[in-house]
Amino acid sequence: MRVSTDKASGSDGRLFTVVVEGYGVGKQRRAARTFTVSYDRLQSLMQSIARNGGRIRLVSADSVAPSAEATTPAEVAVPHQAASDHGAEVSEVQPTPTPAKPPAAAAVSHAAVPVNLYKPKEPFLGTVLDNYSLLAEGAIGRVNHITFDLAGGDPQLHYVEGQSIGIIPDGTDAAGKPHKLRLYSIASTRHGDDLADHTVSLCVRQLEYEKDGETIHGVCSTFLCDIQPGAKVKITGPVGKEMLLPDDEEANVIMLATGTGIAPMRTYLRRMFEPAEREKNGWHFRGKAWLFMGVPKTANLLYDEDFHRYEAEYPDNFRYTKAISREEQNSKGGRMYIQDRVLEHADEIFAMIENAKTHVYMCGLRGMEPGIDEAMTAAAAAKGLDWSQLRPQLKKEERWHVETY
Ligand code: FAD
Repeated sequence: MRVSTDKASGSDGRLFTVVVEGYGVGKQRRAARTFTVSYDRLQSLMQSIARNGGRIRLVSADSVAPSAEATTPAEVAVPHQAASDHGAEVSEVQPTPTPAKPPAAAAVSHAAVPVNLYKPKEPFLGTVLDNYSLLAEGAIGRVNHITFDLAGGDPQLHYVEGQSIGIIPDGTDAAGKPHKLRLYSIASTRHGDDLADHTVSLCVRQLEYEKDGETIHGVCSTFLCDIQPGAKVKITGPVGKEMLLPDDEEANVIMLATGTGIAPMRTYLRRMFEPAEREKNGWHFRGKAWLFMGVPKTANLLYDEDFHRYEAEYPDNFRYTKAISREEQNSKGGRMYIQDRVLEHADEIFAMIENAKTHVYMCGLRGMEPGIDEAMTAAAAAKGLDWSQLRPQLKKEERWHVETY
């Protein structure tokens, strides 16, 4: 862009009109936006646009209302004044619509995703291939990785990353009726852990709680954690289109997981970074993936070694941030939860979210939602954004994906 200094060389009260593309959050980024600012505010606006990757289409003095269709660079006088946050002081005149681009997720063909191939009345009978603990010595509770053979079904039970399957535990409930199915997020990619295209793996925590002085164990989670290789298990599904990965190899993916909420994230990360997966799936992720993982103790970390390997092999593409509540402290001296990590990295997270290629995935116990919401509210406010407006906008653009239970 050429710069002329003869027109606006001082703070003379004139207004400047700036037309910019690719600037703002969500929908805003897809429309050309027009700002009218005073000379004093022009530089800070320019800096903000540059920082956030916006493209300036036109700058003109004296409030000339420009057309967003203008394509030739305009001459502009850039004031050499100290930067200040332009924040709310920039008055937006009117966004000028440009032809709408589809959201980044639109490339995912939801119609092609398999659902309900097997229903509760006629479930598929899978065979347990493997069942082992994912926890290290000293961990709290029981969490197992369980793999089922799906071979031989007609139709073949297949699925994609981000889906769940149903398990119907053997036996009957208190009323003598067959147990109802429980859903579990799939922890393997569509190719299965052995890449043979006919297995599915789950990451299951045994539910355990105290009631009236008695320790109660969940029906299905205990059934699964105890099950032996060779046993037959009733499987339904797959279900779910909420947690699908975008097809775009350059998408950015922020993952917020607690406990077994890691299951879908493991599928994404294997698809992105496991060498044999990359070779097989022909999908070569080049974006940025950032996993935030919350657990009570180091011994409760799940698939931790794999994630460190991906971090070492793909340092420009993968980042792994842990919150270990009973071993680490947040800035206030309290337990370190995942929302504390979100707050710590608020600036970077929101800079990523401002990019229309960024998707956020949250999975784990329902109790994690208020904390994340609070952290996102504070983080957004620090950037002059209103999370209560931004979140539905991201959801509408299919960039905010939540599966909590
Ligand atoms: P149940 O025997 O069904 O007992 C559950 C019931 O116990 C609750 O409904 C409640 O009434 C009671 N209860 C639970 N906690 C307490 C408490 N503290 N105090 C008093 N009462 C209590 N789980 C995983 O481990 N891994 C996954 O990947 C996973 N993915 C899921 C994905 C989806 C989409 C959904 C909806 C759930 C997922 N779950 C997952 C949870 C799973 O479906 C089961 O709910 C869980 O395993 C418990 O089932 P259960 O049969 O063992 O417990």
